[in-house]
Amino acid sequence: MIIKDEEFGEVIVRHSRMVRGIKFSISTSGRLAMSVPTHTSQFLAKRFLNSNRKNIREKLPIKDPKEQKARDYQKKVLMKRARGYLPYRLEYFAKLYGYSYEKCRLSHANTRWGSCSSNRTISLNIGLMKIPEALRDYVILHELAHLNHMDHSKDFWAEVGSHDKNYKTHERHLKQFSPGL
Ligand SMILES: [Zn+2]
Repeated sequence: MIIKDEEFGEVIVRHSRMVRGIKFSISTSGRLAMSVPTHTSQFLAKRFLNSNRKNIREKLPIKDPKEQKARDYQKKVLMKRARGYLPYRLEYFAKLYGYSYEKCRLSHANTRWGSCSSNRTISLNIGLMKIPEALRDYVILHELAHLNHMDHSKDFWAEVGSHDKNYKTHERHLKQFSPGL
């Protein structure tokens, strides 16, 4: 549920059976998010919001509603570009080096460029579309190598190195960028 608020813009309300009280946080889009117990009504959620206004203002880095919208737009554009590129690039390298994976997922987490799960699903962050191609390819090769090694062991790095001899430099350069928007 979304509450439109004069001051904070769109406020995301998440109902959860796990929550007892009300918890405020910031979503990845910079919006205010509140977790409330399962049957909390909109009326009640608004009341909680109003009574915590001062606290929220002081403690949480909420983005300006205009900035929230700009970020949404940027995400949409990136997602579109990513969809037309990343799955194909992944497929290209997989074929080239003889890997087989189950699925390619696109993500927009704030902290990870990619991941590889034990069910052979590779997730790639749409933020990869913002960084240099060499680094983007490195991330893809890194995740493909995880299909054979689910750790960062010596063998894992040897495999990454066999496809990307500059992997150490790439790993280091990657730290200058952040996957979040
Ligand atoms: Zn890794």
